[in-house]
Amino acid sequence: MTQTSPSTDQLQRPHLLLIEDDRDVRRILCDELALEGFHVHASPTAEDGLHCAALHPPDLILLDLGLPDLPGDEVTRQLRRLTDAPIVVLTATDALQERVRQLSLGANDFVMKPYDPRELLARVHAHLRRHGRSAPLHIGRFALHRGEHRLSFDGHDLGLSPTELAIASALLSEPGQLFSREHLERLIWPDHTCRNALNVHVSHLRSKLAAVGAGDLLVSVRRSGLALLSDHPERG
Ligand code: CA
Repeated sequence: MTQTSPSTDQLQRPHLLLIEDDRDVRRILCDELALEGFHVHASPTAEDGLHCAALHPPDLILLDLGLPDLPGDEVTRQLRRLTDAPIVVLTATDALQERVRQLSLGANDFVMKPYDPRELLARVHAHLRRHGRSAPLHIGRFALHRGEHRLSFDGHDLGLSPTELAIASALLSEPGQLFSREHLERLIWPDHTCRNALNVHVSHLRSKLAAVGAGDLLVSVRRSGLALLSDHPERG
């Protein structure tokens, strides 16, 4: 008999990322979505939401536009660079101009505040059905299979552990961009630092990349940090 552990269950439930600074709205919405069977991560700030989207690519994002730390347009733009998951904007205004701008930045839908929970849930279900959880996000020669929480290179599954996947996803959110070790540690372990642990995970990641001929795409710069290229540079 096969036992299903809670973590396996969490991996199979659709992951929703809720970015909302109002604590009461966040709590009520979280409860409603959890009751509906979704696994919800709630972020109170744009920065936390963007980190979360990079580390644990969600199946759908619910985004409040009025956040304290970043303008709504910028949040949508940055989320769209990280993920192709549907973005449903929670907005207090029905101004046509704002809707058009948000759509052009990559938002998929709008729900007016105060919202009817039944309408919101119906829209979430519709977008998840339409989008499909298994559509991979292609980054150069890498493909991030969000629903299955795995990363492949040229069609070869890398077999990454959750932490290795979190490191690779963070680096691939800005391919070729140098991330300091401190920045990576903050992204992966927000509550504590484990420098030696990062080195071990990076070394495993490098071995797994090397096994599919992509070892040289992980670039380590002494005293500066790490970068992951999405493809080999063209040789001229
Ligand atoms: Ca707000």
